[in-house]
Amino acid sequence: ATANIGVVGLAVMGSNLARNLASREGNKVAVFNRTYARTEELVNAHPEAGFVSAEQMDDFVASLSKPRTAIIMVQAGKGTDAVIDQLVERFEPGDIIVDGGNANFHDTIEREKRIAPTGIHFVGAGISGGEEGALNGPSIMPGGSVESYKTLGPILESIAAVAEGEPCVTHVGTDGAGHFVKMIHNGIEYADMQLIAEAYDLLRTIGGLEPAQIADVFAEWNKGYLESYLIEITAEVLRQVDAETGKPFIDIVLDQAGSKGTGVWTVQNALDLGVPVGGIAEAVFARAVSSKPAQRAAVQATIQSRPDVQKADDVQAFADDVSKALYASKVVAYAQGFDAIIAGAEKYGWDIHKDKIAKIWRGGCIIRAQFLNRIADAYDENPDIATLLEAPYFADAVREGEAAWRRIVATAALSGVPVPGFGSALSYYDSLASKRLPAALVQGQRDFFGAHTYKRVDKDGVFHTLWSGDRTEIETEPSTH
Ligand code: NDP
Repeated sequence: ATANIGVVGLAVMGSNLARNLASREGNKVAVFNRTYARTEELVNAHPEAGFVSAEQMDDFVASLSKPRTAIIMVQAGKGTDAVIDQLVERFEPGDIIVDGGNANFHDTIEREKRIAPTGIHFVGAGISGGEEGALNGPSIMPGGSVESYKTLGPILESIAAVAEGEPCVTHVGTDGAGHFVKMIHNGIEYADMQLIAEAYDLLRTIGGLEPAQIADVFAEWNKGYLESYLIEITAEVLRQVDAETGKPFIDIVLDQAGSKGTGVWTVQNALDLGVPVGGIAEAVFARAVSSKPAQRAAVQATIQSRPDVQKADDVQAFADDVSKALYASKVVAYAQGFDAIIAGAEKYGWDIHKDKIAKIWRGGCIIRAQFLNRIADAYDENPDIATLLEAPYFADAVREGEAAWRRIVATAALSGVPVPGFGSALSYYDSLASKRLPAALVQGQRDFFGAHTYKRVDKDGVFHTLWSGDRTEIETEPSTH
């Protein structure tokens, strides 16, 4: 046995992760892939890595020192289960199997339960940052047992991205906690991207700016409170010119956004948890709407005219408003994402430290940004705040941007520019901020048609009005439906 860590699955993610591991002092990396040609290709291309390669799974396992630790990077789902079975057959109690793929956290919980009786540790680890992250330093979100982290922690810390001197990895919580938090990360990423896309649309349609000019605006924003990887790459995408036509790249890309499903998972689970994640949901829906060309064409053929665009008189002031609306909406989206983490932790019994999660997202992942330091500070100061919007820094930021936020959403509506992200974030904020919500009427309607009962503002108890009788009120037990 010569290797302290093994990687199974040597497609893009696995081979990059293996190279990353091999480049760190103290690691000797064993590699295995179902199709041996892929293993040979990697080993031949990177002699400097000093990989220990094996054609047979038995030899791969034999090359690992104890406790054996192997990271699986294969196709999520069936591929993962096949490899897990092969490793479980050969591993011993105390050994560690890490699934670094994009597994559904429900599957991770099941797999951990299934493997636990063997004494082998199963760790679901969310690994963010794509190919580049895997090679140069990802943000890593491992779940699994506290005990397994003693062995695994130092290995993961050696390859994770580093932000302000700290490795972007922490033991998130037990069993599926890591994959759950990775899922929420991806949901937040959807929301952030959608908000930025809306900001671009506003600057172009109402601000009257060309893509290259908007690139300059984003590059400028990237020096201030909006500083983030996504703002940075947005400037690059907008500056790109298509070689074939000479047009802005953005204008030759079909306006239909795809997805690989983790955003959908986030929303599905948030619905189950009863957490409003409107920012993420609107982002998922916005991609879905964009990918319905037949419906879009049908409505475009039906309408007589589009509203007159209310062109901005002062483009600089307008761009400033957009940046403030973007920031306020972003604060809402992240607040909602963290609410989902809190609700998941409560439901599944995970001891998740929100401040640590914010910190490990500062590097090696798509949503990396300075802004996450503010979230870490807020939860560090008071882990029990009811919402991030209550934390002084964010409360101030939203208050300062509020007037601009309202102007932007109103102008967008009058001009016919769709802003599902900005609009839903503002409505969410107004819902929390309103002293009284029309939910009272909804509850009244529910009592009318379904005898679902209601509570009163002026006394305790549960009540029902005899709507189909004499409309007097009776005190009752809560309805069960
Ligand atoms: P793929 O998802 O394309 O999977 C290909 C790999 O899986 C190959 O090594 C293949 O082996 C192996 N494989 C598939 N089925 C089986 C099986 N039944 N038994 C054994 N091996 C199998 O690879 P990627 O590198 O793109 O992704 C790996 C994981 O990382 C996935 O879970 C993916 O979701 C996740 N991922 C994460 C990203 C991120 O940003 N965090 C980005 C991209 C992916 P063979 O060569 O023999 O076919």
